This record gives sequence, structure tokens and C-alpha cells, in this order.
Amino acid sequence: MARPVRPRRVVCLPRHLVYKPAGVPLSDLEVIGLSLDECEALRLVDLEDLSQEDAARLMGVSRQTVSSIVRSARRKVAEALLKGAALRVEAGPVDYPAPLHFRCRKCGHQWEGVLTPESMKARGCGHEEFVELSSS
Ligand SMILES: [Zn+2]
Repeated sequence: MARPVRPRRVVCLPRHLVYKPAGVPLSDLEVIGLSLDECEALRLVDLEDLSQEDAARLMGVSRQTVSSIVRSARRKVAEALLKGAALRVEAGPVDYPAPLHFRCRKCGHQWEGVLTPESMKARGCGHEEFVELSSS
């Protein structure tokens, strides 16, 4: 039996949750899911320039785990850039205080929820592009 995944501590959410090539509808694109722990690992290691040891300590996981999260995240970002796919931030095994406050970029609809694929689908207006408001 696989060991349950330990929640990864995430303190910062990306400002936008969907990135895609300009001018192409999301429905025409392959969508790659980038989990919040992958975003956080990229932020700490590639943006804040922390060592994987320091990033691991901040996220509450081992250095090996951070290393594999970063490798997976970089691969997804590279794949989206080079193949012209969309990236959508998804929840993943994270420890983040809920609820969050979202706003749809198309119609302005706002709602509160936790960042799971289910809650993001059940948000009401049906649009795919939204931002998270409490992180800025
Ligand atoms: Zn909407």
C-alpha cells in the first residue's frame, strides 16, 4: 500500500490560476494541471533562489520530495511553453488555509471556496479563467 502523501505547506498562491497562449480559447487547448505544491516549489527554488534544503524545510517535506516536485513542475511548464498548452493551477496535496476568495475574469462572478478541482468546477458561472483575490 502506498504511503499517504504528507501535506505540503504552501504560503503563496499564484495571482492567476490559468495561463494559456493568447488568442486561443481554452476549450481548444490541451490543459496541463500544475498543483499548488509544484507552484510553491518553483517559487521557492527558481524565483526566491532558495536551496532545495531550505525549500524542503519551508514546505515541511524532505529534500528528495522537493527535488521531485521541482522536476515535475519544470517539466510541465516547459511542456506548456513549447507545445502551446494551457497551464491550470490545481490543488494537490497541500496545507493551505481555506476558504479562498475567487473572482472570474470573464464575468466578475465572485465566490469563496477551497482550491480543489471539484470546487472550481462548481463555482457557478462556468468560465474557466479566474483569479484568487486573497493572495495579493
Ligand atoms: Zn464567469
